[in-house]
Amino acid sequence: MGAVHGSHAILAEPDTVDEVLDMIRASGGRATTSRRVLLEVLFGGSGHRTAEDLGREVAARAPEVHISTVYRNLDELERMGVVTHAHMGHGPVIYQLASRAHPHLICERCGTRIHAPDELFGHLTRTALRSFGFAVDPRHLAISGVCSQCADR
Ligand SMILES: [Zn+2]
Ligand SMILES: [Zn+2]
Ligand SMILES: [Zn+2]
Repeated sequence: MGAVHGSHAILAEPDTVDEVLDMIRASGGRATTSRRVLLEVLFGGSGHRTAEDLGREVAARAPEVHISTVYRNLDELERMGVVTHAHMGHGPVIYQLASRAHPHLICERCGTRIHAPDELFGHLTRTALRSFGFAVDPRHLAISGVCSQCADR
């Protein structure tokens, strides 16, 4: 059972390729090769990949799958709440499994990414909710700044 995030509407996040394919079938979709391979790539890799990266990895396993199909499947998985995207500073959008998503800090000088826990934003999240009734999603945008190595230079 995956972690349940407060701001997400889904009750339980799928933990395996087969659980997601079951969700797709339950919502009337088909467990096609392109969907299965994309899910295998998402569950097997380290996360933080662009749509192009994912397209290349799918093509390496299933050359018959067109890149536009990969993009469409990615959109579909995002609508289902299985995948989320995040903006890494000025760089490209990255995709990862919603169950493994987390906030990021990104160095505006060297591009280093720090994978941060949700708790780092606990005060911000609680205060924004209490004061403004606003639910902050700290995972959607990386926080820009300067890493310790660049600050020392
Ligand atoms: Zn976005
Ligand atoms: Zn840096
Ligand atoms: Zn990360």
